[in-house]
Amino acid sequence: MADVILVLNAGSSSIKFCAFDVNGPDGLALVTHGQAEGLFSSPRFIAFDAHGQKTGEHAWGDGEKLRHAEAIAHIADFLRSHGEGHRLVAVGHRVVHGGARFTQPVLATADVVAELDTLTPLAPLHQPHNLKPIRIVAERNPSMPQVACFDTAFHATQAPLAQAFALPESVTKMGVRRYGFHGLSYEYIASALPRIAPDAAAGRTVVAHLGNGASLCAMLDGKSVASTMGFTAVDGLMMGTRTGSLDPGVVLYLFDELGMNAREIEDLLYRRSGLLGVSGISGDMRALLAADDPRARFAIDLYVYRICRELGSMAAALHGLDAVVFTAGIGEHSAEIRRRVCDEARWWGIELDDAANERGGPRISTASSKVSAWVVLTNEELMIARHTLALTQGAST
Ligand code: ADP
Repeated sequence: MADVILVLNAGSSSIKFCAFDVNGPDGLALVTHGQAEGLFSSPRFIAFDAHGQKTGEHAWGDGEKLRHAEAIAHIADFLRSHGEGHRLVAVGHRVVHGGARFTQPVLATADVVAELDTLTPLAPLHQPHNLKPIRIVAERNPSMPQVACFDTAFHATQAPLAQAFALPESVTKMGVRRYGFHGLSYEYIASALPRIAPDAAAGRTVVAHLGNGASLCAMLDGKSVASTMGFTAVDGLMMGTRTGSLDPGVVLYLFDELGMNAREIEDLLYRRSGLLGVSGISGDMRALLAADDPRARFAIDLYVYRICRELGSMAAALHGLDAVVFTAGIGEHSAEIRRRVCDEARWWGIELDDAANERGGPRISTASSKVSAWVVLTNEELMIARHTLALTQGAST
């Protein structure tokens, strides 16, 4: 009987899952992964084995809706019917916000979940959806050990200066400070770098997590020193549909002059801006790269410009730059965006090896490049599984 850890990453309309055998040949080994998506519009379920072969697929009828509880029930049924000889021993969850208190993964007891719920105002679009599956699993199987892993936790090593806003103490004390996100991705990269790029692992390195959400993390010796995301995941870089950094005066202007309320401004900043808003075409980088349209070109130009401006800020926090690492959807797959960022940042001493960049690395800078550049595939789910195993080992036996 193989012991298996399930990792759940739940959003507002999708639940991604991965299952890992805890006794794989090199430790945790992926068994299956997939997702239930379009929960409240046109639900679909799809699953793959460790080799990427499709092993399950289901689509619900038009107009049918699936709540998170039903999606989890479907995932559980799939795992049972396809997991002969597997025994589920723990469930790990991605939770976007751990606040000031949770700077490490934690066993997700009912009390912990209740406390995490109080952080919902800090991440209203993510936190409630992240917590839902923990409650659903606890209801279905109260004795199942569950672990919450936080996107903020990796940044707990940042100095108070890097975490502070220039706000009065009374406001800061309410928890209004920089937290940083994408921490599970950065933690995984930090764990992989010593093997792939020892110098980058030990040096002053900026990791660019460029997915639908995007941020930079300045790492010194594998620890977070600064990051572009702050109080919420809308700060910093331009993203698929999010603005990134914005003069706060713009928000006041929208409020005062256009009479927009908080929810409307939230919708504008999180869902209607970024690549989508600027191009007016799409928030998907692939679509923009393929579009022969000046608005798409301008959106990509701005995307690259913002990365390079913030790269300077991260390097300043590090007092120099030894390496740049690209990861997540765009960072891993778009040779063109990597090339444009590296060309724009040539003055730092980054010299791109074009052929290596087209191949996808891992090293994409020339041997003589003063600053090295890399592509490293992130794996947030494996990071969650590692934490879940570490916190629950022995708990289920
Ligand atoms: P999420 O943040 O939702 O996990 P991903 O890390 O999967 O998202 O990144 C999604 C982004 O990656 C999208 O903008 C998508 O267009 C982009 N992307 C994926 N593959 C490519 C590619 N081959 N070229 C350019 N962009 C890509």
